[in-house]
Amino acid sequence: MTAINPIEDAAQLSATLAGLDLAGRLSLVAGLGGRAVFTTSLGIEDQVIAAEIGTHRLPIEIATLETGRLFPETVALISETETQYDIAIKRFHPEQADIDAYAEKYGLNGFYESVEARHACCGVRKVKPLARALSGAAVWITGLRRGQSSNRAETPFAEYDTERHLLKINPLADWDIEAIRAFVEANGVPVNPLHERGYPSIGCEPCTRAIKPGEPERAGRWWWENDETRECGLHVAEEAAAAAQ
Ligand code: SF4
Repeated sequence: MTAINPIEDAAQLSATLAGLDLAGRLSLVAGLGGRAVFTTSLGIEDQVIAAEIGTHRLPIEIATLETGRLFPETVALISETETQYDIAIKRFHPEQADIDAYAEKYGLNGFYESVEARHACCGVRKVKPLARALSGAAVWITGLRRGQSSNRAETPFAEYDTERHLLKINPLADWDIEAIRAFVEANGVPVNPLHERGYPSIGCEPCTRAIKPGEPERAGRWWWENDETRECGLHVAEEAAAAAQ
């Protein structure tokens, strides 16, 4: 019997996904077996995926990380999206005890002071809740795109997440922002009003600013840090790649 090699299987799946449209990609991964979970930050890319899941009634769970520091516009968009597509978006919150311990050690907004303090905050408010959201899942679907930043330039359609032991699917890897905007426009997809105010990438309120013309899409995220540190630990491979540069 041939041993299963999840990394090679993911490479083959990646090649198959490359030849499909978005609905085909999502349908295929929804049928792979095991729980498929899509994690959304309610960003414009994620809204495209949520729209496809809702429109085609795909058996994919949808989860979001309610960090407690989101913009009010982002929080409002969660409910709006649920209503428009008749879907449920499960909210995952940080543990209060973890927040208290963080505030005790670093201060509530200690993330501005050092990369370590920032990673610790993302760990408490994002990485730990993400682990709960993905617990028991076989497939994790994300809205990562190659054009979002240099750290994401090599994003494959499918990869095996060796840390979380699941298949990670990035069905929009090859979409550019113009294609995303065209889809949203053509299909009446609800999006965060902050996008129109210069925020192409939206995370927690204290850690996101509007970008200037010509800046990379994620330049407004943790703007006080340099490119190599600007991931939140959710996307381990990208972070490892950045650290190796
Ligand atoms: S983005 Fe900022 S506020 Fe949100 S979890 Fe990370 S450091 Fe904390």
